[in-house]
Amino acid sequence: MRIFQTDCLVLGAGLAGSAYALRLARAGFQVELLSLGQPEQANSDWAQGGIIYETAPDPAPLGRDILAASDGTANPAAIAQLLREGPAAVRELLLDELQVPFDRDAAGRLDLAREGRCSRNRQASCSYLQTSGKMPADLR
Ligand SMILES: Cc1cc2nc3c(=O)[nH]c(=O)nc-3n(C[C@H](O)[C@H](O)[C@H](O)COP(=O)(O)OP(=O)(O)OC[C@H]3O[C@@H](n4cnc5c(N)ncnc54)[C@H](O)[C@@H]3O)c2cc1C
Repeated sequence: MRIFQTDCLVLGAGLAGSAYALRLARAGFQVELLSLGQPEQANSDWAQGGIIYETAPDPAPLGRDILAASDGTANPAAIAQLLREGPAAVRELLLDELQVPFDRDAAGRLDLAREGRCSRNRQASCSYLQTSGKMPADLR
């Protein structure tokens, strides 16, 4: 039996695990990232380059949209966490740190799109990533 010692063991190398591992490593911890599949075989590698960002001024309609899109099956606690923490996570990791080249309008503002059951334009989309599929690879 081989014994590994590490400060932090992160299970799953999709966007969630990779982002968490990155944050820990930046904070000075030794991190091991364990994945069931090969690198770049997570669902995150199939994502199409769009992510919900804008929830202001009132996040409640997004919660209703998610519940409707799931036909009432979405976990209310997970919805509440997404509404509470999602925009800051996108801003800190994808916009500020990784500087993902999301589509912008002529004035330089995010060109937010509407998708699925969304009742408003909230989704930051990235034409470049939609064709290259590089979002998680860039994180790693
Ligand atoms: C085709 C497609 C398109 C999509 N497009 C979008 C989009 O445009 N916008 C959007 O917001 N979302 C999109 N999604 C959804 C999005 O990809 C997922 O919600 C997101 O990637 C989930 O990230 P995650 O890190 O939680 O999980 P995942 O990316 O699924 O990663 C899970 C990780 O855990 C590992 N793992 C699983 N079980 C174990 C185990 N027992 N032990 C160790 N490791 C394990 C896996 O190997 C993997 O590395 C899309 C999904 C698909 C399939």
